[in-house]
Amino acid sequence: MQTVIDKESGFCFGVKRAISTIERELAEHSEPLHCVGDIVHNEREIERLQGKGLVIIDSECLGRLPQGSHVLFRAHGEPPASYGTARDHRLQLTDATCPVVLKLQQRIKQAWLAGREHGVQIVLFGKKGHAEVKGLMGQTDNECILIENIGQVDDGRLVFESGRPIEIFAQTTKDPHQYADLIALIRRRADACRQSVCAHDTICRQMADRADRLRRFAGEHDMILFVGGTKSSNSKVLFDICRSINEHSYFVTGAADLRPEWLCCHPQSIGIFGATSTPLWLMEQVQEAIESMGRQSVNKR
Ligand code: SF4
Repeated sequence: MQTVIDKESGFCFGVKRAISTIERELAEHSEPLHCVGDIVHNEREIERLQGKGLVIIDSECLGRLPQGSHVLFRAHGEPPASYGTARDHRLQLTDATCPVVLKLQQRIKQAWLAGREHGVQIVLFGKKGHAEVKGLMGQTDNECILIENIGQVDDGRLVFESGRPIEIFAQTTKDPHQYADLIALIRRRADACRQSVCAHDTICRQMADRADRLRRFAGEHDMILFVGGTKSSNSKVLFDICRSINEHSYFVTGAADLRPEWLCCHPQSIGIFGATSTPLWLMEQVQEAIESMGRQSVNKR
């Protein structure tokens, strides 16, 4: 039995950058570093960083921290209100917002400012309540229209009438195929009323490329162990893709989730793939554990 980790999977550029910022700040400063929300949607990595002194707080707690407290904004970004709170309470801010998210925040804000006098409808394809989405919606004073799935195009939140142009953006980690389907449907509805539509390609390349890579990888192995976090939307999107290609795909948060019965079909090759929030060390632990399970099952036969 062969096991292979896709070393191109796991942490994306934005998450790597945020984690190394945290490690540097924790090494250079003795006071606690407060991160607003989970730094990555991966429970194991959070536990590791908490062990080094990171303190996770809710955004509601931001305004209750003592003046001068050290705060970090994570890769997902924050709405303008969080920057206001940090300023008003004289917090020492380290901003680890991913540059790709920052750029998207600026683009949405510009589109909203330029279009609000002209009845432009700003659409955001994203997951309600997701940290990045909150940060993006905050750029438009929460006026942008959030669409979570294609079924919501016709539920009345979007107005289809001439003179109401539409500009569409997507959360950086959305599935590119679903986004393309959503844009196509909105264009069809808008064309019928001679309404203009401008769709922006805002899905992160790290995410889009990863989906294609995973499709290939999932087809090359008898079994796939997908390592991700239960709170990660990126993990969910990628795992769904993985399962659509390879029926022997299993979602694990770590080595403890592995089940010996998965080896009953005697896979010859097992591929291990991580979400953008999955650390390499966790994939290596899963690899070691499945190899040891494989050895035990051979000994029993
Ligand atoms: S997926 Fe892309 S946009 Fe999101 S944090 Fe990673 S690099 Fe940044």
